[in-house]
Amino acid sequence: MLEYTDPEYGERSVMSAIPLKNFEDEAQALVSVGLEAFARGWVPATSGNFSVRLGPNEVAITVSGRHKGRLTIADIMRVDGSGRALDKKRPSAETLLHVSLYRRFPEIQAVLHTHSVNATVLSRLVDGKLVLEQLEVLKAFRGIDTHQASVVVPIFANDQDIQRLASTVEQYLEAHGPIPGYLIAGHGLYTWGASLNEAMRHLEAFEFLLQCELEMRRASRP
Ligand SMILES: [Zn+2]
Repeated sequence: MLEYTDPEYGERSVMSAIPLKNFEDEAQALVSVGLEAFARGWVPATSGNFSVRLGPNEVAITVSGRHKGRLTIADIMRVDGSGRALDKKRPSAETLLHVSLYRRFPEIQAVLHTHSVNATVLSRLVDGKLVLEQLEVLKAFRGIDTHQASVVVPIFANDQDIQRLASTVEQYLEAHGPIPGYLIAGHGLYTWGASLNEAMRHLEAFEFLLQCELEMRRASRP
């Protein structure tokens, strides 16, 4: 049986039904995701962060400022459900955006944040929201089984006050319900999934779709 401190009640609770995932296994999986994302040009110059839910009140996440193309298990740390370090390492300020998603949606098991050229440029070109439609790859998103679906991707203004940015995202999710991801203007993409594999599939789909959108805009210019 596992014990953890319940943030709601502030006392030791005994949890036998929800085992924690193995930290080393999940950290290794995050290292692989980092190497792949860097190789594909999605996380230049130490940018981006990746996380996996370990248990009810614990998350594994990349340490602040680490180069994603050279990650090792030492570059992954543990934080609690509020984003506070559970070891001696320093979490990125953006950890708050990860944990707020885990808190809101119990089914989310992994969150991926990238700074690709496509996400950065498109989020500057388009105001407020990007609507993706009539594209076969939309079917890569959970729950979508036709290219005729329409996926609205909100674009939030960038903000160095991550607490305020997290509340803006929370308010949007409260009003609009589940979405597969969002953009931050001039900054990058957040996406997630019910497993690390699903989150990675969503990330690949987004990067492809964002590139299609950019190419279509370029091709249709007079
Ligand atoms: Zn970022």
